[in-house]
Amino acid sequence: MPELPEVEAVVRRLRPLVEGARIVSCGQWRATTAKGTDCAVGRRIEGVDRRGKHILVRLESGAFLRVHLKMTGNLTVVGDARMRPPTVRAWFEFDDGRAMALDDPRALGRVTFHERGEENELFRDLGPEPFSGEFTVDHLKNKARGVRKPVKTFLMDQRAVTGLGNIYAAEALFEAGIDPRRAAGRISTARIGRLHAAIVGVLRVALDSALRAYIEPGGFTEGENFPVAVYGRQGEPCPACGKQVKRIIQGGRSTYFCSNCQR
Ligand code: ZN
Repeated sequence: MPELPEVEAVVRRLRPLVEGARIVSCGQWRATTAKGTDCAVGRRIEGVDRRGKHILVRLESGAFLRVHLKMTGNLTVVGDARMRPPTVRAWFEFDDGRAMALDDPRALGRVTFHERGEENELFRDLGPEPFSGEFTVDHLKNKARGVRKPVKTFLMDQRAVTGLGNIYAAEALFEAGIDPRRAAGRISTARIGRLHAAIVGVLRVALDSALRAYIEPGGFTEGENFPVAVYGRQGEPCPACGKQVKRIIQGGRSTYFCSNCQR
């Protein structure tokens, strides 16, 4: 599943390709794939940015398309709208014949049209962006205060900070030396500081790796260049102490950690 770094890489690649293009028609594979996108027809694309894992394609008059890539989606530009690959689920043809296409083998990705002003309501529950000035140690400490659920689940729910998925949540907790099962509200202030630094550090390395992986057009795998320490390494030696990496299930997702290094 694309996480924040991969979505950011998609945004940076897409932006110069679509800025200034005018949408002249749109289509979709199934009714559930896209909602309200007819309203985008006739509008010019003014920019592309991101909120959490949502891609926002900015249109004239403050409207925007929101794209969520889900498990296997990718937002690309095809040279000829009529020659789009069979796995394209939603497309927006431009006045120059090219098209922006949601290519998605598993067809779980979604596109929705929104008018100006709907953004605050849409993203009300999303925490700050990890690279923004809003995401501070104090912010993380305040969010964690009194929270009884495990810190891994706390980090995954996007309210404390947006963009941490399963891979990078596990890696940040390893780097900070915190047991993923520990209640978020029972982590000392000093260790919250280490966790904050680990989250930002892991996501920076992941973003660099996603940008490199995305130099070539076509699909890419999340974290493919990211040097994982624990994620997906059940039974293998911990890179720090050599003890076997463990796997448990939290909130229906796998969590990988070292029970010796993470307390
Ligand atoms: Zn270890």
